[in-house]
Amino acid sequence: MASGSGTHILALPFPLQGHINPMLQLCKTLITKGIRVTLVTTVFISSSLQIQASTTSNLINIETIPDAAATTSEGDVYQVFINNFKETITQGFTTSEGDVYQVFINNFKETITQGLPRLIEKHKQSSYPAKAIVYDSVLPWTLDIAHQLGLKGAVLFTQPCTVCSIFYHMKQGTLKIPNEDEGSDIMLPAMPPLKLKDLPSLIYDTGAYTALFNLLIDQFSTYRDADWRLFNTFDKLEDEILKWIASEGPILTIGPTIPPLHTDDIEYGLSLFKPDAEAYLKWLETKENGSVVYVSFGSLVTPGEKQMEEIARGLVESNCFFLWVVRASEESKLPPDFVLEKGLIVNWCSQLQVLAHPAIGCFVTHCGWNSTLEALSFGVPMVAMAQWTDQTTTAKLIADVWQIGVRTKADENDFVTREEIAGSVREIMQEERGNEIRRNASNWKQLAKEAVSEGGSSHKNITEFVIQLSRS
Ligand code: UDP
Repeated sequence: MASGSGTHILALPFPLQGHINPMLQLCKTLITKGIRVTLVTTVFISSSLQIQASTTSNLINIETIPDAAATTSEGDVYQVFINNFKETITQGFTTSEGDVYQVFINNFKETITQGLPRLIEKHKQSSYPAKAIVYDSVLPWTLDIAHQLGLKGAVLFTQPCTVCSIFYHMKQGTLKIPNEDEGSDIMLPAMPPLKLKDLPSLIYDTGAYTALFNLLIDQFSTYRDADWRLFNTFDKLEDEILKWIASEGPILTIGPTIPPLHTDDIEYGLSLFKPDAEAYLKWLETKENGSVVYVSFGSLVTPGEKQMEEIARGLVESNCFFLWVVRASEESKLPPDFVLEKGLIVNWCSQLQVLAHPAIGCFVTHCGWNSTLEALSFGVPMVAMAQWTDQTTTAKLIADVWQIGVRTKADENDFVTREEIAGSVREIMQEERGNEIRRNASNWKQLAKEAVSEGGSSHKNITEFVIQLSRS
């Protein structure tokens, strides 16, 4: 086991659940190797965090930076961002200060740019000055702050390498986008042929989310200067594209960043949402192995009311038991006459514990990268119902490349019918194709486990990272 011998590093996640989880798990792994970690966030974000007591997450020191301009004329900037996510997605919500994403992103940048140097200077006076900072790839300007103050910088990418490479091509100007009606394949080095709607939606849905699009393109603004480039994936999963991106500069794959199944600590440790009481785990206990469909669209996605109705009716039509996460802010979209005969709805759950439960037979997912890696790591087949951003590309990989799920077909407005949802669930739960997918899922589960086990590719890379950190 490599020893970080008390080397101190800072970690700066982007404050969304899907970005916090991989950073946190990486930190926990580094701690087990003797690295000291201080997780940096803002006062406001930290006040929204639910800390789940667990052995390793307790060892992470959390330090906060006062929010630069916590309020807009509409109220607190983070609250405005979360409250208006639905409008932002459906029609592009603006505050008097501008696009809500942009306000949120600008505010976070201002907060960190002001507060991080002070925090680093304070640590320099302590017995454990920080040597490096691990930062989310969507915060590329962190590298300049780190370098100016004598720290090294490791960038962490929390999307599939395939998706990152597509944005890399966008940044370089080497991606030619065909017209929708051309229907021709998009050929990029080391990638399968892609149709327009296999690309991240921010690329083909032009102009809809400019702030987010720019955020993802800007990931590469300091890419070449980073001291380490970490990717939350593993070598065998994205073999060819990883080799291609490594030819642009060395990288370290460190994923999947999932808490190991065999520990009693199967939690990330910090959540922006409060999980429901654990009655759902007891409910799962009453179900036969592989008999329950788990449904979740992650922390941000907000399907429209009609789409929610189709999901509800489709689940009933599949005639399977189901456990469905409907966040409190989404509940009002459920059909008023919806009767839960074979289903259970929760506002939030411990997804890791659910996916690890033997009662789960498949996962209807929005294809967020963490959810995908979690399902893959636990060998759970997926119904890939991508909604936006990187999810569309991940759905393609799930269905056609790794073959661990089926991808729902949508109409030209990205609407998926109840028949399609029910049919996809049945395909996995009851039909022959399901057996084939389960075999593939079990194979990928094994490969994911190997990658993070002693001698595996991600394990070796994390060890190498720790050695380099301690020597730096
Ligand atoms: N998650 C959870 N409980 C839930 C739903 C989701 O703990 O009820 C976690 C899930 O395990 C994953 C994260 O929230 O780690 C969602 O990240 P993902 O990248 O899948 O999607 P995003 O929320 O970023 O769209």
